[in-house]
Amino acid sequence: MQAIQEQWNIKTGLAVTALIVLAAALPPQIVAQEQGIDVTLLGTGDPVPRVDRFGPAILVEAGEYQLLFDAGRGVTQRLRQLEISLSDIDAVFITHFHSDHLSGLPDLWLTGWLPPPFGRRSQPMRMIGPDGLSEILNGLRQAFDPDIQIRLVDEQLPPQGIEFDIREYSADGIVFDEEGVTVTAFAVDHGQYIKPSYGYRVDYEGRSVVLSGDTRFDENLIQAAQGADVVIHEVAAAREEMLAFDDRIQLILDHHTTPEEAGIVFDRVGPKLALYSHLTLLSSPDSPEVTVEELIQRTRTNYSGRLLVGEDLMRLEIGDSVSVYRFPY
Ligand SMILES: [Zn+2]
Ligand SMILES: [Zn+2]
Repeated sequence: MQAIQEQWNIKTGLAVTALIVLAAALPPQIVAQEQGIDVTLLGTGDPVPRVDRFGPAILVEAGEYQLLFDAGRGVTQRLRQLEISLSDIDAVFITHFHSDHLSGLPDLWLTGWLPPPFGRRSQPMRMIGPDGLSEILNGLRQAFDPDIQIRLVDEQLPPQGIEFDIREYSADGIVFDEEGVTVTAFAVDHGQYIKPSYGYRVDYEGRSVVLSGDTRFDENLIQAAQGADVVIHEVAAAREEMLAFDDRIQLILDHHTTPEEAGIVFDRVGPKLALYSHLTLLSSPDSPEVTVEELIQRTRTNYSGRLLVGEDLMRLEIGDSVSVYRFPY
């Protein structure tokens, strides 16, 4: 609440006491910074269908652009909570092809084409991701063709609005470069069979944020993240007794980064803020999941800088410093 008051106070110049009353009446509309980068965690979870952490999706606002990184379960609901029209997303970047990163995509694509104000896409949806993305999108197009054909003739929706504009890449490098906003893809190691898998770095006006994607401890990520203001990293953890509970637990952990390893990444990058998103917290009836406090404590074995565990709709403003706001703002 303290941070919320500070934010509103700065933006409106009004007294804090008045703002508490105003905050309840105003819609949760967010105002992007004129300079710098704003980041909103739309979903901080993994494949587990929980209600407090939706599927992986991160909104990055830089300059004129609203860029979405992955489209996990519930991405449309989260954008609506922010009162951002689905058609206002300028481009969607995909890290890899695990379903938890894609399962919200058909909803974003199809619902964003509908006539209400939350939709109304009339131009092709820009999609950027590693080789293989067009195959997935062609498959979606085929799967939903009956719906598309119905709406084209019945509601006369604009044909361009349901098209994809696809850019695929096959190596590290810049994948988006417009109006001073640069997005660089870098390969990460998510396991032997989980290829391709990439992370992204967004740069704008001297500010930068790195999104790890899904990865094990990875030197390439550390290199790509050098000088970044914010590093948003995935993390996975389970209690010792869980490993004995089921062989698959170790397999899952082997595809991800432990808090101790993430601590090494953060320490070697030295961002202004290190933040966890995509939390894989494995549990069983006999073994409760690792708590947020434990995640931080375990990370602290290797990293002493500013560190937060992400929550859905947590918002960062990356300027001279990094401000953090919890929802409702
Ligand atoms: Zn994932
Ligand atoms: Zn994955």
